[in-house]
Amino acid sequence: MTVEFEGFLQEHRIAYFSMEFALNEEMPTYSGGLGVLAGDTMRSAADLDLPMVGVTLVSRAGYFRQDIVDGAQVESPDAWQPEKWCRSLPARVAVSIGNHDVWIGAWLHLVEGHCGGVVPVILLDTDLADNRAEDREITHHLYGGDDAYRVKQEIVLGIGGARMLAALGVKVLKYHLNEGHAAFLTLELLRRHSHTVQEAGTGALRYDTAAVRSRCVFTTHTPVDAGHDQFSYALAEPLLGDFTDGAQLRALAGEDRLNMTRLALNLSEHVNGVAQRHAEVSRRLFPGYEIRAITNGVHPWTWACDSFRRLYDRYIPHWCHEPELLMRVNGIADEEVRKAHADARAALAEEIVRLGGVRPDAEVATIGFGRRMTPYKRPDLLFSDVDRLREIARRHPFQIVLAGKAHPRDAGGKQLVGRLHEYARLLKGAVPVVFLADYDVRIARLLVSGVDIWLNTPQRPLEASGTSGMKAALNGVPNLSVLDGWWLEGWIEGVTGWAIGRDGSHDDAADDASSLFGQLENVVLPLFYNDAGGWTKVMKGAISLNASCFNSHRMLRRYAAETYLR
Ligand SMILES: *Cc1c(COP(=O)(O)O)cnc(C)c1O
Repeated sequence: MTVEFEGFLQEHRIAYFSMEFALNEEMPTYSGGLGVLAGDTMRSAADLDLPMVGVTLVSRAGYFRQDIVDGAQVESPDAWQPEKWCRSLPARVAVSIGNHDVWIGAWLHLVEGHCGGVVPVILLDTDLADNRAEDREITHHLYGGDDAYRVKQEIVLGIGGARMLAALGVKVLKYHLNEGHAAFLTLELLRRHSHTVQEAGTGALRYDTAAVRSRCVFTTHTPVDAGHDQFSYALAEPLLGDFTDGAQLRALAGEDRLNMTRLALNLSEHVNGVAQRHAEVSRRLFPGYEIRAITNGVHPWTWACDSFRRLYDRYIPHWCHEPELLMRVNGIADEEVRKAHADARAALAEEIVRLGGVRPDAEVATIGFGRRMTPYKRPDLLFSDVDRLREIARRHPFQIVLAGKAHPRDAGGKQLVGRLHEYARLLKGAVPVVFLADYDVRIARLLVSGVDIWLNTPQRPLEASGTSGMKAALNGVPNLSVLDGWWLEGWIEGVTGWAIGRDGSHDDAADDASSLFGQLENVVLPLFYNDAGGWTKVMKGAISLNASCFNSHRMLRRYAAETYLR
């Protein structure tokens, strides 16, 4: 380690563990919303000069690159070179997996804030000459492989990550688990906080769970039980070489299966969901735990497109540090806001042409939808009545831009990609539909700013939070969305955007579709075409009432005040 980094890394820090991080456009070490949130958290920490350190796997083979061939998703590796974006650290630690040691090295990536702060991220790497060939691949594929591969990755992330921080001399104030993937880290902490007691002469180990709990903060992201990482003990126990107290493990992680969420819940003093509704749902899912809500946010500078950055810089100084000031957007002239948006539309149009698509009409309303392609996100809801869409488009023309990857093993998601291409063909001549391949943060930035309406149609209550709608709002693009996740908090009908369907447990695809078509036909598109002033007012409503609040500075300040410092 060079001298300049020695003291820097060894400060007191909050350690933020995440299986994925979206750190920049060239590092494919993320798959979607979870990684974008982790990256935005680091960027806010750098902006706010909050001492944090990120911990993740290096994921050399990336997530995957998506091509569309004949309307179907085709996947290829998205390898990257850590040496281009990180420096290699000399530290080495070992974890025991199965019955042998696996050595772990570390890369250091620096996240530089907009105002001078710097936050380190440690990327763990088992691709070392000392390791067996099979073990060298543990940190290659993000969300790849089978359950055994995943357990190994989670051992490296949780146990290896905690040891690496110790080896580097980082003084960890709190451990923040971004989702359950890193929950094995609690086992490493338990091991550190254990002592032998001569209870009736047995020499049994006693674990100080209270000491571990006081150090851990856990954010859960999944509102369904099946969505949580869980493994059979028959699989996990032989791999978990370092921690072999089966009775203790079952008491903490579940009797029947090793549930990573339960493990994290039982060993974290502070537990939170990612939106109010999500916390409510999580409390029902895990009765007996105190689960609060800290609603997600997006990083202001990262997610504002160039034209809106310029606009805000000019009229709302300090918006990058104090995004609450975006409430002042109403003081900016309508024409300037519309001009900034027209520039964003032009940038998206250029990209569509560059990718070989037909240039979108600059005057026609554009609906955007960019999501992970998976059944609960219901990307096909908009197309559930193609005749109705044609009919609406005859009176109020519109065009649609879609994007999203399906996980390679998500058959339903891949089918949806195919179906969307079917619909695009069916609608030819009536509604132009473009699908942009390889949805990533670069495409997302163009998309959320360059469309007019950001559509979201998830099945309730599975959205947890959702963050792409917050990115849209930051660029003056109003949401038209099912009432779920953050939108329940951000939505004011006709002021910040529009609702699809009703609130409540009621969840009926036909009702939602009918509400969606009704809103488009009677409210959203007529406003777009007939009332430029009214439309701009909603754009400004999205900025002043959504973007001022749903940003990662507010989120991180809450984490700091309500969890890290307690
Ligand atoms: C923001 C983002 C997401 C998450 O969006 P949701 O609204 O939560 O679905 C996923 N992928 C990329 C590339 C993003 O930028």
